[in-house]
Parts: sequence; structure tokens; C-alpha cells
Amino acid sequence: MEQDRVSKQITPKAKDYSQWYLDVVLKADMADYGPVRGCMIIKPYGYAVWEHMQRDMDRRIKETGHVNAYFPLFIPKSLLEREKEHVEGFSPECAWVTIGGGAELEEPIAVRPTSEAIICSTYAKWVRSWRDLPVLINQWANVVRWEKVTRPFLRTTEFLWQEGHTLHETEAEAEEETLRMLDVYRAFSEEMLAMPVLHGRKTESEKFAGALRTYAIEALMGDGRALQAGTSHNLGQHFADAYGIEYLDRTQQRAKPWSTSWGSSTRLIGGLIMSHGDDAGLILPPKVAPYQVVIVPIPPKKGDVNEAVLPKAREVQAMLRAAGIRVHLDARDQFQPGFKYADWEMRGVPLRLEIGPKDVEKDQCVLVRRDNREKQFVPLASVAETVGPLLDSLQRELLERARRFVAENTFRVSSYDEFKEIMATRRGFLLSHWCEQAECEAKIKEETKATVRVIPIEGEAVKGACVRCGGASSREVYFAQAY
Ligand SMILES: [Zn+2]
Repeated sequence: MEQDRVSKQITPKAKDYSQWYLDVVLKADMADYGPVRGCMIIKPYGYAVWEHMQRDMDRRIKETGHVNAYFPLFIPKSLLEREKEHVEGFSPECAWVTIGGGAELEEPIAVRPTSEAIICSTYAKWVRSWRDLPVLINQWANVVRWEKVTRPFLRTTEFLWQEGHTLHETEAEAEEETLRMLDVYRAFSEEMLAMPVLHGRKTESEKFAGALRTYAIEALMGDGRALQAGTSHNLGQHFADAYGIEYLDRTQQRAKPWSTSWGSSTRLIGGLIMSHGDDAGLILPPKVAPYQVVIVPIPPKKGDVNEAVLPKAREVQAMLRAAGIRVHLDARDQFQPGFKYADWEMRGVPLRLEIGPKDVEKDQCVLVRRDNREKQFVPLASVAETVGPLLDSLQRELLERARRFVAENTFRVSSYDEFKEIMATRRGFLLSHWCEQAECEAKIKEETKATVRVIPIEGEAVKGACVRCGGASSREVYFAQAY
């Protein structure tokens, strides 16, 4: 079975990108399909990647002053319905429980698609005075959205995420919080996943159901499509209104708090795969790789690997482990080294360390980088000092490579013909003027499959004419076809 998993070729990216992605997910041992359509099983190797991501994201969330809590999976229908826009946005993809314990329920219960309803209705009980503010809570949970078209990690019926839900005294504080968490997502993507992102505001048609303003980070995938990789919403006072959150302010007047919510999910793993992978499989940035180094012992032509090579390989493993490096020794005796190389390349391990009888004699080993396959001989005595900096530069170079890709696939376009031509061929991010009319945005989507990914919130806004209709535009926006 292991033999099958590795030996079957994966579809080349250039031939069929979408099949390449699925092949990598399955053959790199990241995930499998569950019995209900659109549900995935995250396998141990994929879950280990998630754990590294989750641990670091959790640290960032706590460093910005938040604490974790957990709210129920089930939300009564009446509660979900209190915020009108919110329920309209989410009810098409809601899963409902109508029978419990063999009996029809008096009121249907939603399996949470997101937790604003349950959390805000709880906050209404908790918050009495301005001294109770701000409320800065995050939860790690699963959510369910009944999607029509699904793909592992990118769009699944059930997925894992974190969702932050905060309350503030003023609009300015809520806006500051919204942007702070957007920046946490941006920094996480770039520093951990080596995945550069655009950040900015969403248009009215793309904003979260019930939000005042939505902000997002957007990454560019290898096929020129954008992936929304994290969102942060200023919810205004809509949810405080709908769920009756009130408090006595500093002047003893009744007041409504401003709320925010923000989320990032296992979708980031899909972004990670598509940002760096190649035709040999996954390429993992060292910071999230379950194994940063894999040691492949090479058996002697005559004699026993157990005597000639393995003891030395174990020594090297102990040295690396002592240096805080996540290392795995592949001592499987049923496979040849060539098979093991292909297997670990497929799984995207950043560095391979080969050690054979000749190397043992010379007190050296061979290090091979996964990203560019550069090879170097390293004296065993200095292996730990070499590997650490090498992993750092690999992490850095993956980000630089991804940044170059974004730069090479971002175009400033002022003619609609050129816009259509690029969207029909190579795709990418197009920086163009847009009139801010929803109708025009819808037409552009219909004609080119592209949507406004973000409206930049930094830099100087230069006025111009809409790329499609010529109407007045206050600044250029980023368009792309999206996942
Ligand atoms: Zn227009």
C-alpha cells in the first residue's frame, strides 16, 4: 500500500493544475475523503502541519490580548434568525438538526456555520458596564457549511478554524482591532507559511453577512487564481442591536458596544500546498514541516546496514534533535533509498540527509534541499550548525520566490480588452480602476470570472476611470479569479 502511494506518478501542474493539487493532497498523505460528500479526514501528516500552524497562530492571538473559550456547536434557529442579513447570508449553507433522541425537535437547531449568533447572545448576558469591555475572546472549533463544490482544505463541508469575537466601547477601537487582526493574519502567512498576501477591504458584495466592513488577506496560487486566506470584520453595532447587548457607559447612559469577528482556517493548508508545491509533490516551509530533516541511510553493497550505517545515522539524529530540529530517521528496511527519496520529496520535507558506508568512513553526510535540490557534503561534527541556518535560508527563499511570482503575475490594466485577455489566459492579480457600482462588478464577474479581491487601504489613492464602464473611480483595486 505504501508502495502504491508513492510509485504512482502525480499529474504535472502544467497539464491539469486542479488534478495536480488533488494528487499532492492524497499522495503526500495530507488528507483523505470522508464518507459524507465534501468532508475530509485530515491524516496524521497533514494534522501535524496544522498543529504547527495552530500553535503559532494561537500564540499571536494571545499576544494581542485575547483569551480562548469554547461555545456550543448547536445554535437554535430563532437565535440565528435575529440578525437578518446574517441569516440570509448563511441559511443556504446551513445544516439543520430536526430530530434528537428519536423525537422531532420543537425548534430546529443549526450546526454552527460561524458563531456570531451564539456568542453575541451570550455576551448580552455577560456585559453590564463599560468596565466589562473590551471583551476579547477567541475559539478554536469546527464549523459546517453545506457547500456545493468541495475540494480538500480549500472548500470542505466541515472545516477547522479559529474565530475571534470582540466587543468594544467605540467604533474607532473596533476598527483598530479589525485591522490589528488582519495584520496578524498577514504576518502569520508570510512568516510561517512563506505565503505573501495582499491585504485590504472587501466590496459590499463580498463582505461578511451582517458586517459593516470586511477586510481580507488574499494570496496568489500557482494557477493565477486568488485564495482568500483570512478575514477580519468590523461588525458595527448590528450584532449588539440584534442580540440586545447593552451596557452602562462612563456617563451611566445605556450604550451599545461595537463588535468584530475574524477567522482563519484549515484552508490555509490548501494555500500552502499551492504556493510552493511542484511536480514532485509538496514543498513545506521549515517552520510548519512535521519533519524538517529526514535521514535516509544508504545500505552497503555487501554486509548489513544495521552494522555499517544505522548506528551513525542514529547519532546524527540525536545531534539534530538536541539542536531543536524536527528530524526523522527512515529506517524502513523494505524500501530502497531511491524510493525513500521520492517519498519524502512528495511529502515536502525541507532537507534530506543521506548517509552511506563511504560517508561513515569519511565522517560526513550529504544534505539535499527539497526546493532547489542543491546538494552539499557536510562533516558530521558540524551537521547541527549547518542545518539550522540552512533551514532559515530555505524558509526565507521560499517567501522570496513566492513574492517574485506575485510580482510577475500582477498587472496594471486600463483597457477592458486586455483585462479580458489576461483573465482568459494566464490570470493573476489585475490592478484596475473600478467605479464602485455593484452592477458593474457583477458584469465584470460574468464576463471574466474575476471579482474585486481587495480595495487597498494603504498608499495614495489616485483617481481614474473604471476599466469596464469608464465611470469615475476613486482608486485602483485588485481583481482576480478566486477559489
Ligand atoms: Zn464600472
